[in-house]
Amino acid sequence: MKKSVLSTCMFVLTAGLCASAYATGGSQAADWTNQWRKDRDAALAKNPNLPYDPTSILVGCDEQALKTVLVLTGGEVIQSWRLVPDAYHISVPDADDALELLGLLKDLAGFKYAEPDHFGRIGATPNDTSYAQLWGMNNTGQTVNSDPGIAGADIDANLAWDVGTGSMSIVVGMVDSGIRNTHEDLAANIWKNTGEVAGNGVDDDGNGYVDDTWGWDFWNGDNNALDDNGHGTHTAGTVGAVGNNGKGVTGVCWSVSLAGLKIGSRTGSVSSSAGISAINYCVGKGIKLSNHSWGGTGYSATFDTAVTNARSAGHMIVCAAGNSAINNEVTPFYPASYSQDNVISVASIDNNDKLSSFSNYGSTRVDLGAPGSTIYSTYIRNNSNSAYAYLSGTSMAAPHVTGAAALVWSANPTWTYAQVRSKILSTVRPISALSGKCVTGGVLNVNNAMR
Ligand code: CA
Repeated sequence: MKKSVLSTCMFVLTAGLCASAYATGGSQAADWTNQWRKDRDAALAKNPNLPYDPTSILVGCDEQALKTVLVLTGGEVIQSWRLVPDAYHISVPDADDALELLGLLKDLAGFKYAEPDHFGRIGATPNDTSYAQLWGMNNTGQTVNSDPGIAGADIDANLAWDVGTGSMSIVVGMVDSGIRNTHEDLAANIWKNTGEVAGNGVDDDGNGYVDDTWGWDFWNGDNNALDDNGHGTHTAGTVGAVGNNGKGVTGVCWSVSLAGLKIGSRTGSVSSSAGISAINYCVGKGIKLSNHSWGGTGYSATFDTAVTNARSAGHMIVCAAGNSAINNEVTPFYPASYSQDNVISVASIDNNDKLSSFSNYGSTRVDLGAPGSTIYSTYIRNNSNSAYAYLSGTSMAAPHVTGAAALVWSANPTWTYAQVRSKILSTVRPISALSGKCVTGGVLNVNNAMR
């Protein structure tokens, strides 16, 4: 986009005569978004470390201003969200140029902001070992990956299960790389969208997604939320691998409905826009809880508004604090660092009650710790439905808290997100390693939270 185009359009803008360049509905819209996905994926393939999508931007504006924005940028509307009125995700030939152009529009009526669609990462460290012991649930001092633990450095899940083991009526949005829904230890706990008839090509429940029988792939724009990375299958298992079935592992919640909300590529890149879409989906389906084992350092006003409006709808998001061993007070990590109280930010501890070496922390921006080092859970490997693996990361810590929230919610189904949050944060087990490193100074204790 050249500046000469801007001056031409500024005239159009002043005259209020912008030609409409809305992406039309139906197949034409699909063509546009498919082309945009190809462009985005090609850019990422060329440079996997891109900080944001060079082929699209997020714009906050009203419908009238949008017409100007589309003319100026030559963009098309990829998507908008009921959850975030007056925000648009638009394709642009060059995001940098588009942002520069739109930066000049701050006085245009109905225009609020333009921002990059930040890329984030799902991140964890593979960690092979011959031991299959869930020290985070119940640490008896067992050695895990050559590292002897300390008895009691855990979340006391074994004691919590005396009170309750969950309920299929609690749905958790797993906002991740998808889920291997056929895994032997997950299949029974995969959410079923009862409002949708499988394979009939109709959006039966009218939520904007066709044949979304157990989730959606927001990255590729289809109904196949099958995990092609492994990360999402692992976090899903920590929240809700089927308990007491004689197989594999168990989630914090033995019974729970796991919705596959895929927001990332096979290689682990995710985007703000896909994350917004996943939260928008949850709120639309009345899903009250989602897990976000992903993030990046880019702030998004659009995402921030999505979180605020999700809060109004009673939705809580549990987020990984990040794996860079940095202070989130200095360098925020999103979505964990959004300040609304429906966000819970989780640091990672190891089996010795220490802050994991990789874990981010923050006295006001991180809420609590949970097990995240050398966590054994469900995984994908060679199309197997019985694969398991150890991974480490705050990605593994967050789903312990999400599972606890689901467990508490299943025991107290009338509670608001604020009550669930308050119960979890007020019942932590304080440890010295977290003193001053997070709001509560303690580790999740799901047994206390259930009492
Ligand atoms: Ca649907």
